[in-house]
Amino acid sequence: MTSKDIITIPNPLLRERSKRIGHVDASTQELAEGMIEATLEWEAGREHEFGAALAAIQVAQAYRVVVIRNDFDDKSNKSFTVFINPEIVKVEGVPQEELEGCLSVSDIYGSVARYPKVKVKAINLDGKPFRVTATGFLARVFQHEIDHTNGIVFVDRVTDPRKLYRLEADGKFTPLAAGEASPKAKAAPNEMGAQ
Ligand SMILES: [Zn+2]
Repeated sequence: MTSKDIITIPNPLLRERSKRIGHVDASTQELAEGMIEATLEWEAGREHEFGAALAAIQVAQAYRVVVIRNDFDDKSNKSFTVFINPEIVKVEGVPQEELEGCLSVSDIYGSVARYPKVKVKAINLDGKPFRVTATGFLARVFQHEIDHTNGIVFVDRVTDPRKLYRLEADGKFTPLAAGEASPKAKAAPNEMGAQ
């Protein structure tokens, strides 16, 4: 797959619930590999962003398969973990707002509240169940991706238009709503992780 396989809003597929994988086989592996390829190719064309994760619906495949980058700080590490039928089994803490981006929402970032800690269960490419406890940005990524498997895009969670920003070619954010100040992003622009 290539970055051209990644669909963007308003494609109605992005609002559809994905189906569970009943039996993990070679086609599941092929799908996951294609998703990773597409994410890395997308990233190669972006100066100020990195591809943190992707859900299968973003390449128009309505299956509950998610790939997540193993290292969010080192772009040269191109390895991912595959999560099949991922499910959040527990959330902890008070939701916190941070800027979030998406490969299916070009150049737009929004402030979204997410739980700081989640426990996730999934199955791997060998069909074996496993669990992960995630905090911080990884916890945010899981909530964003599992939303995708349920037909929810991050912009659906941004009810206040003043919390949406455009990432400009120079790596700076400009507010979409008139009269708003640009956000004080905690991360440098070249560290913005899209999912
Ligand atoms: Zn996304």
